[in-house]
Amino acid sequence: MQPIRLIGHKGYVPLKQNPLFSHIRKRMQSTVDKLIPNQCLLCSVHSETLICSICETELSSFKLTHQGANLSLRPDIAKALPKLQAYKLLAIGSHKWPLDYLISTLKYRDKPCYASAAAQLFYKNCIQHRTPETLPQFIVAIPIHFFKLWLRGFNQSARTAKFLGDISEIPVLEGAVKKRKFTRPQVTKNATARRTLEPDLFSVSERLKELHHIAVFDDVITTGATVSALCRAIFKINPNIRIEVWCLSISLPHQ
Ligand SMILES: [Zn+2]
Repeated sequence: MQPIRLIGHKGYVPLKQNPLFSHIRKRMQSTVDKLIPNQCLLCSVHSETLICSICETELSSFKLTHQGANLSLRPDIAKALPKLQAYKLLAIGSHKWPLDYLISTLKYRDKPCYASAAAQLFYKNCIQHRTPETLPQFIVAIPIHFFKLWLRGFNQSARTAKFLGDISEIPVLEGAVKKRKFTRPQVTKNATARRTLEPDLFSVSERLKELHHIAVFDDVITTGATVSALCRAIFKINPNIRIEVWCLSISLPHQ
């Protein structure tokens, strides 16, 4: 006796070729596409990846794909950030479209996919080519004051650092540094106020005394005042530590 088939009398019609299944699959795919569109997060064109290839080329303006890459050796950056005492400075690109949009979105919208995309871009552009022994022991994200954390609900640098830790397999050291004082956003300050920060802005855990190489991660560096203040606080308890400064973008004056 012939087994009962859904469609066809001469034999089994594979499910993939079944018109009813095909119709249902198309309808379901269309619904999924509406819910999770395959679009670039930045320019909204169709893309199978979070960031399309065109935006990715625009984002990666610093091209740091060699072992010795260090942006603090670039004359324009050294001039703009004279007080930054970093062993290495790495960033994806200049703070302009579309990188500025990516950073403001991951900062002000609670959508982890932007942090994931930013972490992948950083990994690909800045550290993927490095050998494991040259990489830091831990990533330390720039902390925000607990009141700002309560207001915003998340720390965009810590969130991106976590994704970066997963991709690079470098652990993220949580709770080792804390911001003691609530400060106004840098964008609301004039140039002098941006460069002047209160002393003892950060408290640093004793755990950092035992380490010899870390990366401090921030989303964007403008004057470098905040990250320099954190580096100073870490050097106070561990003067011999190597600190790399990793950020998504650098906002140079007259860019
Ligand atoms: Zn795009």
